[in-house]
Amino acid sequence: MTHGKPTRSRLRVLRTADPGSLFPHLKPQEILSELGPPRQLLSSSAKADKSRKVGVLSKVLYLTSGVFCPCATESCLRVCLGHTSGRMVLPTSAAARDRRTALYAVDQEHFLHLLRAELHFLRAEARALEMVPAVRLNGTSDIPWEQLHGELFAEFADVRFYDYTKLLPRAKAFTAGRLGDGRWPANYHLTLSVSEQNQAEAEAYLRSGGNIAAVFWPEIPDRWRGYEVIDGDYHDARFLDGQGCIIGLSAKGIAREDLSGFVVRTDASAPWKHGSAA
Ligand code: SF4
Repeated sequence: MTHGKPTRSRLRVLRTADPGSLFPHLKPQEILSELGPPRQLLSSSAKADKSRKVGVLSKVLYLTSGVFCPCATESCLRVCLGHTSGRMVLPTSAAARDRRTALYAVDQEHFLHLLRAELHFLRAEARALEMVPAVRLNGTSDIPWEQLHGELFAEFADVRFYDYTKLLPRAKAFTAGRLGDGRWPANYHLTLSVSEQNQAEAEAYLRSGGNIAAVFWPEIPDRWRGYEVIDGDYHDARFLDGQGCIIGLSAKGIAREDLSGFVVRTDASAPWKHGSAA
């Protein structure tokens, strides 16, 4: 099932809270032997499909949540949409995520071969529909694609790549337009995700002109901490947002019950409504 010499991941395999995942029990190679190789890497989603309204054909790569998320918090691991929302809870979906994640961990060369083929297909499909092709490679991960696989961005220069990240240095590199001694890929957009642990840093990043995304419940407010909030549920094409925006996302599934501060509660009983969150 491999193409050429297997390559070793430069990322550590971390923990997941996905109850359907085999990662807490088996090594990546064992998962591949058990489940077989992935049938498809890029998926559609209800959220990504909303981007069609703004002329964008978007696909998402969903890996096993947490496994490649170095800044995941207890709360976000538990309520991650990657295993708690819609069809993501199905055993078949969990197996699909595990297959992709295990292949990336074991054989990046094979993984990238499949990814390139699907990106070519997406590009052709978008062209036929006269839409902009777009991809979120970190649907449920936080892999620094710009560092590990930067060649993809030049190879697919007409594809818009976009992601959310909890890694502040990645977000800062994006807004600075710098990647080491070189330039940040022009077709890769990042939005910093707010968690219960990084609100002060996120606010400073926002003040510096970066975009941040926060999960709200029970409603997306018009303003948060004095800043205007735009409705991030309307579409998923984050690269169309302006600069210095708060993107409000409404909590889904069990995230609606979160009281850790990961989900910003806008009801009157929430303590941070009165300015104590940071
Ligand atoms: S960092 Fe994001 S993708 Fe990873 S577990 Fe947390 S919410 Fe899910």
